[in-house]
Amino acid sequence: MIFLDAAATTPVRREVLEAMWPYLTGEFGNPSSHHSLGETAANALSGARAAVAKVLGCRPGEVTFTSGGTEADNLAVKGIALARRSADSALNRIVISAIEHPAVEESAHYLQRVHGFDVDVVPVDRYGVVTPEALRSTLRPETALVSIMYANNEIGTVQPVRQLAEVAAEHGVPFHTDAVQAAGWLPIGVKELGVDALSISGHKLGAPKGSGVLYAKGRLKIEPVVHGGGQERGRRSGTENVAGAVALATAFTLAHDEQSGLAEQPGLAGRVSELRDAFIGTVLETVPGAVLTGHPSRRLPSIASFCFPGTSGESVLLELERLGVVCSSGSACAAGSDAPSPVLLELGIDAEVAQTAVRFSFNSTVTSAELEQAAQAVAAAVGSVQGLGRR
Ligand code: PLP
Repeated sequence: MIFLDAAATTPVRREVLEAMWPYLTGEFGNPSSHHSLGETAANALSGARAAVAKVLGCRPGEVTFTSGGTEADNLAVKGIALARRSADSALNRIVISAIEHPAVEESAHYLQRVHGFDVDVVPVDRYGVVTPEALRSTLRPETALVSIMYANNEIGTVQPVRQLAEVAAEHGVPFHTDAVQAAGWLPIGVKELGVDALSISGHKLGAPKGSGVLYAKGRLKIEPVVHGGGQERGRRSGTENVAGAVALATAFTLAHDEQSGLAEQPGLAGRVSELRDAFIGTVLETVPGAVLTGHPSRRLPSIASFCFPGTSGESVLLELERLGVVCSSGSACAAGSDAPSPVLLELGIDAEVAQTAVRFSFNSTVTSAELEQAAQAVAAAVGSVQGLGRR
């Protein structure tokens, strides 16, 4: 099987499993316990926090461990907006882009529904890019928070986060970015990006599902979403997932070193980008009518996404799986649903074509042989689905 669905999830890396193993077995303590087992767990947790902070270029106290990307996004959007409005009741609007992951979009809608916020949506261009001008014209004096993703999970388009964060900063508005898909592939220094808050998920990086991080700058106030024993400096209660935190820290550090060429495999992002471009080129050449979705060059190294007019995305997926290639018809959450992807509709792609979307996403171990074989399978799968449709 050729696994081209790494944007949905990745297998746990061996190094990661080895690093987390002690905290699942002999060193199983609760970090809040006042005995030696607890102390060992607390030390592991602070080591993991320091390691994540090193990659992000921030202070350990600015790192909050969560149960994943979804929780990090919820905490950022709800927590920052609610805390800002508590401090100044006029701040009752939030800005998000038109192509956010549901973790951000639904958090914003929750604030609208339950807490009376207004949500302003910044449009994207036909490649899925939010321009600084579009953001500027959406900001209002009442804006409490801007949340715009670093890279999109369906089409791979990378946003000009630094410029967008600058626009928000000019207006004194905190800027959050969902970096769940970008982490491990793109530069992630929070100072260079100029962001106030940033979300990461472990299972996209080779750590297990159920581990995540929210970076929140300095004294940025966050109203907790999960209440209880006051762990994570009161930002996120609940006994900490020590093994998950160690796993995320290990996976994030490995991915960062590989991406920036510090590890044995130099410049992983560059290598995978070349493979992606070759794959895109072959698919566009060999599959009649294939259309690339997202930005042609400002895209994640790991995502190639297409529409194959005259097919249905789901039928192409089934055919590809029969041929040994596993991928997705969009985001994992949209897979299996008949509705066309809202992200593709926002790009101006019509509903019928949007229903033919297929996303191929690679993890760090992808090879050119695999992608050559996959491209052949795509041509065969699309050809056979189109043939069936004509019969
Ligand atoms: N944000 C983006 C851009 C994602 O792609 C995902 C997962 O698909 C999430 C957030 C949610 O992360 P998690 O699966 O860790 O909850």
